[in-house]
Amino acid sequence: MDQTANAPDRIAAELAADLDAGFAALFAAYQNVLFSTALRICGRWADAEDLTAAAFLRAFRALSGYDRERIASLRIRPWLLTILLNAWRNQVRTAARRPREMLDAELPDLEARGASAEAQAERHETSRELAGTRYLASDTTGVVCFPSCRNARRITPAHRHGFASLAAAGRAGFRPCLHCQPA
Ligand SMILES: [Zn+2]
Repeated sequence: MDQTANAPDRIAAELAADLDAGFAALFAAYQNVLFSTALRICGRWADAEDLTAAAFLRAFRALSGYDRERIASLRIRPWLLTILLNAWRNQVRTAARRPREMLDAELPDLEARGASAEAQAERHETSRELAGTRYLASDTTGVVCFPSCRNARRITPAHRHGFASLAAAGRAGFRPCLHCQPA
């Protein structure tokens, strides 16, 4: 399932050969790692999606400025995680509602943050189930949506899966749609 462990060199080589094609491979291989890390840091699904998107954007911009030799020698996973943390620090710094001193308090404590993120997700799931909300997922795209999303309406019945909760969809391996951002 986790193909990142044995594939970093292949992806660095693909990036060095063709940045656009290589970046698509990088995104496919690392989006789950970055998103789950982002969720641990942020604690909220929507914030984690924003942070993951910001990190990939930063990564692409950085790669665009690197020469091939530098790209080929990158250790992709730690490099991406560093970018993610920098993007998060930047978001925290620019969020006026959050005091700067929280940065130092939160950074060394990612595990504890992860536990609270899970608790928060559980509460969220429970309230959704009580409200009777349903989600639709496609096994061709691996994405789960609100039923009102344009992507959800494109799912053919043969590939459609219904879920009572986003967490259940996540456990089944579906990731949230970037368009409707189910939460
Ligand atoms: Zn959607």
